[in-house]
Amino acid sequence: MTIHELPSQKCPKCGRVQDACTNTQEDRAPRAGDVTVCFYCAARLELDAGLRLRELSAADLVALDPVTRNQLELVARSIVAWRRLN
Ligand SMILES: [Zn+2]
Repeated sequence: MTIHELPSQKCPKCGRVQDACTNTQEDRAPRAGDVTVCFYCAARLELDAGLRLRELSAADLVALDPVTRNQLELVARSIVAWRRLN
């Protein structure tokens, strides 16, 4: 798993600085439309054309394909569980 740089920015939900991401499937650089999860607050996020993060709405989540939505939720729940233990 490769760590890819993102433009340094704050999570739109918790405000923690985000400057990197990893892929769960393909090992490639992040691109517009990719979804991700904040490592600090588990916010469900999407990258825009400038690789800026925006929080996904409930409607955005429903519109995702089921495989992507389920994977996103699994990662988010894993982060929440890990945060409770650490
Ligand atoms: Zn966050």
